[in-house]
Amino acid sequence: MNGPDRRVADALREAARALEPVSDAPRLDAEWLMAHALGCSRSAMLLLHGAAPVPPAFADLLARRMTGEPLAYITGEQEFYGLAFCVTPDVLIPRADSETLIEAAREELAAAPPQRILDCGTGPGTLLLAALSAWPEATGLGIERSPAALAVARQNAVTLGMADRAEMRHADWTAPGWAEGIGSFDLILANPPYVETDDPDLAADVRMFEPAEALFAGADGLADYRVLVPQLPALLAPGGIAVVEIGSRQAEAVAAIAGAAGLSARLTRDLGDRPRAFVLAHN
Ligand code: GLN
Repeated sequence: MNGPDRRVADALREAARALEPVSDAPRLDAEWLMAHALGCSRSAMLLLHGAAPVPPAFADLLARRMTGEPLAYITGEQEFYGLAFCVTPDVLIPRADSETLIEAAREELAAAPPQRILDCGTGPGTLLLAALSAWPEATGLGIERSPAALAVARQNAVTLGMADRAEMRHADWTAPGWAEGIGSFDLILANPPYVETDDPDLAADVRMFEPAEALFAGADGLADYRVLVPQLPALLAPGGIAVVEIGSRQAEAVAAIAGAAGLSARLTRDLGDRPRAFVLAHN
Protein backbone atom coordinates (compact mmCIF):
# COMPACT_ATOMS: atom_id res chain seq x y z
CA MET A 1 0.00 0.00 0.00
CA ASN A 2 1.25 3.50 -0.79
CA GLY A 3 0.13 6.94 0.28
CA PRO A 4 -0.49 8.42 3.71
CA ASP A 5 -1.97 5.21 5.10
CA ARG A 6 1.17 3.20 4.64
CA ARG A 7 2.54 2.09 8.01
CA VAL A 8 6.12 1.69 9.19
CA ALA A 9 5.77 -2.08 9.76
CA ASP A 10 4.59 -2.68 6.18
CA ALA A 11 7.24 -0.43 4.67
CA LEU A 12 9.93 -2.32 6.61
CA ARG A 13 8.77 -5.64 5.19
CA GLU A 14 8.71 -4.30 1.65
CA ALA A 15 12.06 -2.55 1.97
CA ALA A 16 13.71 -5.66 3.40
CA ARG A 17 12.57 -7.62 0.36
CA ALA A 18 13.68 -4.89 -2.04
CA LEU A 19 17.13 -4.73 -0.46
CA GLU A 20 17.86 -8.46 -0.75
CA PRO A 21 19.89 -8.12 -3.97
CA VAL A 22 22.12 -5.34 -2.61
CA SER A 23 22.55 -6.12 1.09
CA ASP A 24 23.82 -8.93 3.32
CA ALA A 25 21.44 -7.76 6.02
CA PRO A 26 18.39 -6.36 4.22
CA ARG A 27 15.97 -6.34 7.17
CA LEU A 28 18.49 -4.70 9.47
CA ASP A 29 19.35 -2.09 6.84
CA ALA A 30 15.67 -1.29 6.39
CA GLU A 31 15.30 -0.86 10.15
CA TRP A 32 18.30 1.46 10.44
CA LEU A 33 17.08 3.56 7.52
CA MET A 34 13.60 3.81 9.03
CA ALA A 35 14.97 4.77 12.45
CA HIS A 36 17.10 7.42 10.75
CA ALA A 37 14.08 8.76 8.84
CA LEU A 38 12.09 8.90 12.06
CA GLY A 39 14.97 10.45 14.00
CA CYS A 40 14.84 7.87 16.76
CA SER A 41 16.78 4.79 17.85
CA ARG A 42 16.21 1.47 16.12
CA SER A 43 14.78 -0.07 19.27
CA ALA A 44 12.40 2.85 19.83
CA MET A 45 11.29 2.57 16.22
CA LEU A 46 10.59 -1.17 16.59
CA LEU A 47 8.86 -0.85 19.95
CA LEU A 48 6.80 2.27 19.43
CA HIS A 49 6.39 3.21 15.80
CA GLY A 50 5.26 0.10 13.90
CA ALA A 51 1.82 1.56 13.26
CA ALA A 52 3.04 5.11 12.56
CA PRO A 53 2.80 6.55 9.06
CA VAL A 54 5.93 6.13 6.97
CA PRO A 55 8.05 9.30 7.28
CA PRO A 56 8.50 11.13 3.95
CA ALA A 57 12.31 10.90 4.08
CA PHE A 58 12.30 7.09 4.02
CA ALA A 59 11.84 6.65 0.26
CA ASP A 60 14.96 8.65 -0.60
CA LEU A 61 17.08 6.86 1.98
CA LEU A 62 15.93 3.50 0.64
CA ALA A 63 16.62 4.59 -2.94
CA ARG A 64 20.19 5.50 -1.97
CA ARG A 65 20.77 2.14 -0.29
CA MET A 66 19.33 0.41 -3.38
CA THR A 67 22.23 1.85 -5.42
CA GLY A 68 24.68 0.05 -3.11
CA GLU A 69 25.65 3.15 -1.15
CA PRO A 70 26.86 1.93 2.26
CA LEU A 71 24.42 2.31 5.14
CA ALA A 72 26.99 4.22 7.18
CA TYR A 73 27.26 7.00 4.58
CA ILE A 74 23.48 7.33 4.46
CA THR A 75 23.00 7.51 8.22
CA GLY A 76 26.35 9.30 8.78
CA GLU A 77 27.25 6.96 11.59
CA GLN A 78 29.15 3.73 12.25
CA GLU A 79 29.73 1.98 15.54
CA PHE A 80 33.27 0.75 16.23
CA TYR A 81 34.56 -0.69 19.49
CA GLY A 82 31.37 0.46 21.20
CA LEU A 83 31.81 4.08 20.08
CA ALA A 84 29.50 5.94 17.68
CA PHE A 85 31.71 7.42 14.94
CA CYS A 86 30.52 10.09 12.54
CA VAL A 87 31.44 9.11 8.99
CA THR A 88 31.28 10.86 5.64
CA PRO A 89 32.21 9.61 2.14
CA ASP A 90 35.66 11.15 2.76
CA VAL A 91 36.57 8.41 5.23
CA LEU A 92 36.88 4.63 5.15
CA ILE A 93 34.01 3.14 7.14
CA PRO A 94 35.34 1.49 10.32
CA ARG A 95 35.16 -2.33 10.01
CA ALA A 96 34.40 -4.69 12.89
CA ASP A 97 37.42 -6.79 11.82
CA SER A 98 39.72 -3.88 12.69
CA GLU A 99 38.70 -4.24 16.36
CA THR A 100 41.15 -7.18 16.23
CA LEU A 101 43.96 -4.61 16.33
CA ILE A 102 42.74 -3.09 19.59
CA GLU A 103 42.26 -6.54 21.12
CA ALA A 104 45.78 -7.59 20.08
CA ALA A 105 47.23 -4.42 21.58
CA ARG A 106 45.33 -4.92 24.85
CA GLU A 107 46.62 -8.47 25.12
CA GLU A 108 50.17 -7.44 24.37
CA LEU A 109 50.19 -4.40 26.68
CA ALA A 110 48.12 -5.88 29.54
CA ALA A 111 50.97 -5.46 32.02
CA ALA A 112 52.19 -2.07 30.76
CA PRO A 113 49.42 0.30 29.62
CA PRO A 114 50.65 2.61 26.84
CA GLN A 115 50.97 6.31 27.61
CA ARG A 116 51.56 7.65 24.10
CA ILE A 117 49.67 6.27 21.12
CA LEU A 118 50.11 7.05 17.40
CA ASP A 119 47.56 6.17 14.71
CA CYS A 120 48.92 6.34 11.17
CA GLY A 121 46.13 7.13 8.71
CA THR A 122 43.47 7.65 11.33
CA GLY A 123 40.58 8.32 8.90
CA PRO A 124 37.61 9.28 11.09
CA GLY A 125 39.82 8.69 14.16
CA THR A 126 38.90 5.01 14.30
CA LEU A 127 41.87 3.23 15.88
CA LEU A 128 43.16 6.17 17.91
CA LEU A 129 39.86 6.96 19.60
CA ALA A 130 39.11 3.28 20.23
CA ALA A 131 42.54 2.88 21.85
CA LEU A 132 42.12 6.03 23.93
CA SER A 133 38.79 4.68 25.16
CA ALA A 134 40.53 1.43 26.15
CA TRP A 135 43.29 3.34 28.00
CA PRO A 136 41.71 6.39 29.66
CA GLU A 137 45.08 7.63 30.96
CA ALA A 138 46.75 7.66 27.53
CA THR A 139 47.15 10.51 25.08
CA GLY A 140 47.62 10.16 21.36
CA LEU A 141 48.27 11.57 17.94
CA GLY A 142 46.35 10.68 14.80
CA ILE A 143 47.91 11.56 11.48
CA GLU A 144 45.98 11.78 8.25
CA ARG A 145 46.86 13.04 4.77
CA SER A 146 43.28 13.77 3.67
CA PRO A 147 42.18 17.18 5.02
CA ALA A 148 38.52 16.17 4.70
CA ALA A 149 39.07 13.00 6.72
CA LEU A 150 41.09 14.97 9.28
CA ALA A 151 38.10 17.25 9.88
CA VAL A 152 35.93 14.20 10.58
CA ALA A 153 38.55 12.80 12.97
CA ARG A 154 38.66 16.10 14.89
CA GLN A 155 34.90 16.17 15.11
CA ASN A 156 34.81 12.60 16.43
CA ALA A 157 37.45 13.40 19.04
CA VAL A 158 35.17 16.18 20.31
CA THR A 159 31.90 14.25 20.07
CA LEU A 160 33.37 11.21 21.83
CA GLY A 161 34.79 13.38 24.60
CA MET A 162 38.47 12.75 23.88
CA ALA A 163 39.58 16.03 22.27
CA ASP A 164 41.82 16.78 25.27
CA ARG A 165 43.73 13.52 24.75
CA ALA A 166 43.68 13.15 20.96
CA GLU A 167 45.59 15.45 18.66
CA MET A 168 44.71 15.05 14.97
CA ARG A 169 47.41 16.31 12.64
CA HIS A 170 47.80 16.63 8.89
CA ALA A 171 50.74 14.47 7.80
CA ASP A 172 51.71 12.03 5.06
CA TRP A 173 54.15 9.19 5.76
CA THR A 174 55.35 9.25 2.17
CA ALA A 175 56.61 12.83 2.62
CA PRO A 176 60.25 12.95 3.78
CA GLY A 177 60.61 14.44 7.27
CA TRP A 178 56.94 14.09 8.21
CA ALA A 179 57.82 12.50 11.58
CA GLU A 180 60.41 15.05 12.65
CA GLY A 181 59.85 16.05 16.26
CA ILE A 182 56.76 13.91 16.89
CA GLY A 183 58.56 11.82 19.49
CA SER A 184 58.18 8.13 20.23
CA PHE A 185 55.21 5.99 21.10
CA ASP A 186 54.36 3.00 23.29
CA LEU A 187 51.70 1.89 20.81
CA ILE A 188 51.53 2.61 17.09
CA LEU A 189 48.38 1.59 15.22
CA ALA A 190 47.86 1.61 11.48
CA ASN A 191 45.23 0.47 9.03
CA PRO A 192 46.98 1.68 5.88
CA PRO A 193 45.69 1.31 2.34
CA TYR A 194 46.47 -2.26 1.29
CA VAL A 195 44.14 -3.21 -1.56
CA GLU A 196 45.66 -4.14 -4.92
CA THR A 197 44.63 -1.58 -7.52
CA ASP A 198 42.93 -4.22 -9.68
CA ASP A 199 41.83 -6.59 -6.88
CA PRO A 200 38.98 -8.61 -8.44
CA ASP A 201 37.74 -9.60 -4.95
CA LEU A 202 37.14 -6.06 -3.74
CA ALA A 203 33.40 -5.59 -3.21
CA ALA A 204 31.89 -3.40 -5.93
CA ASP A 205 30.22 -1.05 -3.42
CA VAL A 206 33.53 -0.53 -1.59
CA ARG A 207 35.27 0.38 -4.85
CA MET A 208 32.42 2.61 -5.92
CA PHE A 209 31.73 4.52 -2.70
CA GLU A 210 34.71 4.46 -0.33
CA PRO A 211 37.71 6.79 -0.77
CA ALA A 212 40.30 5.31 -3.12
CA GLU A 213 43.16 6.92 -1.22
CA ALA A 214 42.21 4.95 1.90
CA LEU A 215 42.04 1.66 -0.01
CA PHE A 216 44.57 1.26 -2.77
CA ALA A 217 48.30 0.70 -2.39
CA GLY A 218 49.71 -0.06 -5.80
CA ALA A 219 49.50 -3.12 -8.02
CA ASP A 220 50.40 -5.53 -5.18
CA GLY A 221 48.76 -3.58 -2.32
CA LEU A 222 52.07 -3.35 -0.46
CA ALA A 223 53.22 0.16 -1.38
CA ASP A 224 52.33 1.73 1.96
CA TYR A 225 53.84 -1.07 4.07
CA ARG A 226 57.09 -0.63 2.15
CA VAL A 227 57.22 3.04 3.12
CA LEU A 228 55.68 2.97 6.59
CA VAL A 229 57.04 -0.21 8.24
CA PRO A 230 60.76 0.73 7.91
CA GLN A 231 59.94 4.00 9.72
CA LEU A 232 58.39 2.26 12.73
CA PRO A 233 61.58 1.34 14.64
CA ALA A 234 62.49 5.03 15.01
CA LEU A 235 58.98 5.86 16.24
CA LEU A 236 58.70 3.08 18.84
CA ALA A 237 59.55 3.88 22.45
CA PRO A 238 61.57 1.19 24.28
CA GLY A 239 59.21 -1.76 24.85
CA GLY A 240 56.70 -0.26 22.44
CA ILE A 241 54.72 -2.21 19.84
CA ALA A 242 53.07 -1.45 16.53
CA VAL A 243 49.88 -3.20 15.44
CA VAL A 244 49.31 -3.00 11.71
CA GLU A 245 46.32 -4.28 9.74
CA ILE A 246 46.96 -6.43 6.68
CA GLY A 247 44.95 -7.94 3.86
CA SER A 248 44.24 -11.64 4.42
CA ARG A 249 46.70 -12.75 1.71
CA GLN A 250 49.53 -10.41 2.70
CA ALA A 251 50.93 -12.11 5.81
CA GLU A 252 54.05 -13.49 4.17
CA ALA A 253 54.94 -10.34 2.26
CA VAL A 254 54.42 -8.01 5.24
CA ALA A 255 56.35 -10.33 7.57
CA ALA A 256 59.27 -10.06 5.15
CA ILE A 257 59.06 -6.25 5.09
CA ALA A 258 58.97 -6.19 8.92
CA GLY A 259 61.90 -8.60 9.19
CA ALA A 260 63.99 -6.47 6.85
CA ALA A 261 63.21 -3.47 9.07
CA GLY A 262 64.53 -5.35 12.13
CA LEU A 263 61.12 -5.97 13.66
CA SER A 264 59.65 -9.17 15.06
CA ALA A 265 56.17 -9.96 13.75
CA ARG A 266 53.37 -11.90 15.44
CA LEU A 267 50.32 -12.61 13.29
CA THR A 268 46.79 -12.22 14.69
CA ARG A 269 43.55 -13.34 13.11
CA ASP A 270 40.10 -11.78 12.88
CA LEU A 271 36.72 -13.21 13.90
CA GLY A 272 36.53 -15.08 10.59
CA ASP A 273 39.95 -16.65 11.40
CA ARG A 274 41.65 -14.80 8.54
CA PRO A 275 45.07 -13.21 9.01
CA ARG A 276 44.24 -9.59 9.95
CA ALA A 277 47.12 -7.86 11.72
CA PHE A 278 50.73 -8.03 12.81
CA VAL A 279 52.06 -7.10 16.22
CA LEU A 280 55.50 -5.64 15.46
CA ALA A 281 58.25 -4.98 17.99
CA HIS A 282 61.99 -4.38 18.19
CA ASN A 283 63.87 -7.66 17.91
N1 GLN B 1 39.33 -3.90 4.78
C1 GLN B 1 39.08 -2.99 3.69
C2 GLN B 1 38.32 -3.73 2.60
O1 GLN B 1 38.85 -4.56 1.90
C3 GLN B 1 40.37 -2.39 3.17
C4 GLN B 1 40.93 -1.45 4.17
C5 GLN B 1 42.28 -0.93 3.81
O2 GLN B 1 42.74 -0.90 2.68
N2 GLN B 1 42.95 -0.49 4.82
O3 GLN B 1 37.15 -3.52 2.45
